Amino acid sequence: MRITAVQGDITEQDLDAVVNAAKSTLLGGGGVDGAIHRRGGPEILDACKQLRAGDYPDGLPTGQAVATTAGKLPARWVIHTVGPTYTASEDRSELLASCFSESLKVAGTLGARTIAFPAISTGSYCYPVEEAARIAVRAVHDTPTEVDVVRFVLFDGHSRDAFADAVRHYG
Ligand code: ADP
Repeated sequence: MRITAVQGDITEQDLDAVVNAAKSTLLGGGGVDGAIHRRGGPEILDACKQLRAGDYPDGLPTGQAVATTAGKLPARWVIHTVGPTYTASEDRSELLASCFSESLKVAGTLGARTIAFPAISTGSYCYPVEEAARIAVRAVHDTPTEVDVVRFVLFDGHSRDAFADAVRHYG
């Protein structure tokens, strides 16, 4: 598997699947979630509403993942996953790792071979980026998968550097 960290916009990634740092409601939010729905168009929200009406009436639990169409995005699928909110008083690293391993499992069932991840939980959910990067890269590295390209797509240079360091150490 080839793991890389690049600076860029996840909505522009021309890979099989892009991962959304979704809210549990699956009905959109800010950050990555807002950008994916804005650029991908209403088809994605319609698919999310169907998930809420079907298997996820209470929303998507933290650490789980589910796929929808990617609408107008260059990718074929969006894989929605809900990261944990950071708190210093409790270790939520397993939940964050689960976002990556569960997304890879969903990618496997779709037949996706190439996937882009954002820095899940490091925006509105306040995870320190260095810690999140270590957890993310280890989780991807340790998950048995058919996916052969994993690209971490980071919005800012500091996050890109943190993920590039983690790839060097754990990838
Ligand atoms: P969370 O709610 O899981 O913390 P956010 O979407 O708030 O997720 O932020 C996660 C990270 O994604 C932050 O570093 C944020 O700057 C970054 N980000 C925001 N928009 C984009 C985008 N279009 N492409 C890639 N990364 C983005």
